[in-house]
Amino acid sequence: MSQSVTVTRDSNVAIVTIDNPPVNSMSFHVRKPLAEALTQLAGDNSVAAIVLACAGRTFVAGADITEFGTDKALASPNLPELIAQLEAIDKPTVAAIHGTALGGGLELAMGCRYRVGDATAKFGLPEVKLGILPGAGGTARLPRLVGPLAALKMIVTGVPIGAKEALSSGLIDAIADGDLVKSAITFARDAVERVAALPVSQRNAKVENVDMAAFEKQAADLLKKSKGLDAPRRCVDAVRNAITMPFPEALKTEREYFIELVMGDQSRAQRHLFFAEREATKVPGVSKNDKPRKISKVGVIGAGTMGGGISMSLVNGGIPVTILEMNEDALKRGMGVIDKNYGISVSRGSLTEEAKAKRLSMFTTTTDYADLADCDLIIEAVFEEMGVKEQVFTTLDKIAKPGAILASNTSYLDVNQIAAFTKRPQDVVGMHFFSPANVMKLLEIVRGDKTAPDVLATALAVGKQIGKVPVVVGVCHGFVGNRMLGARGAEAEGLLLEGALPQQVDKVFTDFGWPMGTYQMWDLAGLDIGWRTRKSLGLTAAISDTLCEMGRYGQKTGKGYYLYPDGRTATPDPEVEALILEEARKQGVNRRDISDEEIKERTVYPMINEGARILEEGIATRSSDIDTVWVNGYGYPVGHGGPMFWAELEGLQKIVDRLEYWYGKTGKEVYNPSPLLKRLAAAKKGFADAATA
Ligand code: NAD
Repeated sequence: MSQSVTVTRDSNVAIVTIDNPPVNSMSFHVRKPLAEALTQLAGDNSVAAIVLACAGRTFVAGADITEFGTDKALASPNLPELIAQLEAIDKPTVAAIHGTALGGGLELAMGCRYRVGDATAKFGLPEVKLGILPGAGGTARLPRLVGPLAALKMIVTGVPIGAKEALSSGLIDAIADGDLVKSAITFARDAVERVAALPVSQRNAKVENVDMAAFEKQAADLLKKSKGLDAPRRCVDAVRNAITMPFPEALKTEREYFIELVMGDQSRAQRHLFFAEREATKVPGVSKNDKPRKISKVGVIGAGTMGGGISMSLVNGGIPVTILEMNEDALKRGMGVIDKNYGISVSRGSLTEEAKAKRLSMFTTTTDYADLADCDLIIEAVFEEMGVKEQVFTTLDKIAKPGAILASNTSYLDVNQIAAFTKRPQDVVGMHFFSPANVMKLLEIVRGDKTAPDVLATALAVGKQIGKVPVVVGVCHGFVGNRMLGARGAEAEGLLLEGALPQQVDKVFTDFGWPMGTYQMWDLAGLDIGWRTRKSLGLTAAISDTLCEMGRYGQKTGKGYYLYPDGRTATPDPEVEALILEEARKQGVNRRDISDEEIKERTVYPMINEGARILEEGIATRSSDIDTVWVNGYGYPVGHGGPMFWAELEGLQKIVDRLEYWYGKTGKEVYNPSPLLKRLAAAKKGFADAATA
């Protein structure tokens, strides 16, 4: 292993280089030698100035998050102590920044008197995304450099800025001209000749006479998007303190907030999700030797809701697409929707007209399968009927070039059966996107019995290239997400008949942090979809069927379980309440008060139970994959870490007990506790022990 910190000299300038691959995080084994080097250089009279630089691909990209919540994070010198020591050095100190100076890395850089950035460098404090706030002076120093409003935006959103903005806002002092370290050395040598800049903590000009009304307005605007999370609120408090308190006090409060957040469940949940997403790309049976196939051109079959969104995702990720439809009219309609969606981005300012034109030029349309013959990957998004899928895959088998990957976006159908329509089942895989496909991050990659490892590697690589969060799952009805969603909604009709109303059930969900509840979601998706499926299977659901018979399909008809006077906002409807009461009377159900706790036990617990079954059957590799699915595909609130993470906080034994209670009362399978869940609860273990339990 190379040394984590080395010191070299360029005559009277000392260059301290941090080398802690892969991203130079501020681990204890970096902090300790760095502090020692700084002590030595501070006392060395032959050193006039110090440049702090990093080896490898980036400046310090953050604290070492594997140390969070452990003694190592606090071990002296901790990051705040190190930065205080750096700031106290009475010589010009210059951070030479390339790559990404994030979190603890940017805080370290702000401990220097000056910062020189590479033209492509990025600067940010993304701690909020892990449920914490910058805990090493970032909230107190950044406002002193860029002003409170700009600092507030960077800290509350966690979104980094580029070098030009960093220079104009005052975060950095210069953009390197050519070689970064050489530029920083020249800058340092010049600084020796000038009047010394104050330490950042003593630069008060930008935090004096602040327009507090403007500050509070921006804070309120930013917090609107923070969905009940503690960290963004604390970020605002900390930046406000930087204005209203003397620096040492602001620093002390920031540290208190940091410790409060880092010890809390929300931050634990968000860190769990951070690691879960990375872990999800490790797939049993897929090794580094399974190189992804080259994908330069993709075919998409079907230009409906999903085909259009999938095509946009691919093009946005730089991959040209040929869309195939049944006829020119369908193509025209599909391309019209795509054009309109890009138009919305232009009107919002997130896309330029030129960029829109460039993207549209990457689409080709056809009604002739021969035009898909040279595609490396073909994704099918036609009607959800096995007969139609058979037609499509039989044709694809005839026309696709050898080695082309044939993917289905099916929501529920058996991918093995689909693969068997071809003579190349090894090349067939499920690529299940979520609606709207150009927005939702989740990509369930469905592995058939015969899917080749390099096909999975390719699907993972394409997913990452187009900005999705891919999770590999096994074949079953509805895979991971929709199968659990089914369990969550299994008692939705029963709850209404027995005494609840849609708005009461949905409020339990939105209070927990979900963007919407079960009935609001159904109204959004369209009640007619489930109605048609039930009819084809000979099933009924009295309330939902009646709503459909009344033409109430949900948002698209202006009414469903709710009224939508403005087209979007769900408003309780007395007519629906009357319908529910009438249906209960007809069925002889005596309605009673249903508690919020009961609603949770009869919606969320069955869903967790289904998750445990999925884990036990090996449909998901690990429980954290299930959490990743739910957070990225269904709006599960990040502060609760996903259903499986939350279940452990709730207590597995408690969940088993209540499932058994409801199973005894109703005899319904959704409540029958999975053997795995029972074993884990009895052994007082968590889902991480599933493999050995
Ligand atoms: P859709 O009805 O909006 O679009 C389907 C399109 O496929 C239509 O434009 C139709 O003209 C076209 N089509 C049908 N048969 C065809 C054929 N033989 N050749 C070429 N084109 C054909 O449906 P959708 O909602 O986009 O669903 C498509 C698939 O995606 C289904 O398998 C569905 O289960 C799945 N899916 C849907 C969602 C969702 O929320 N809508 C989410 C995930 C997956």
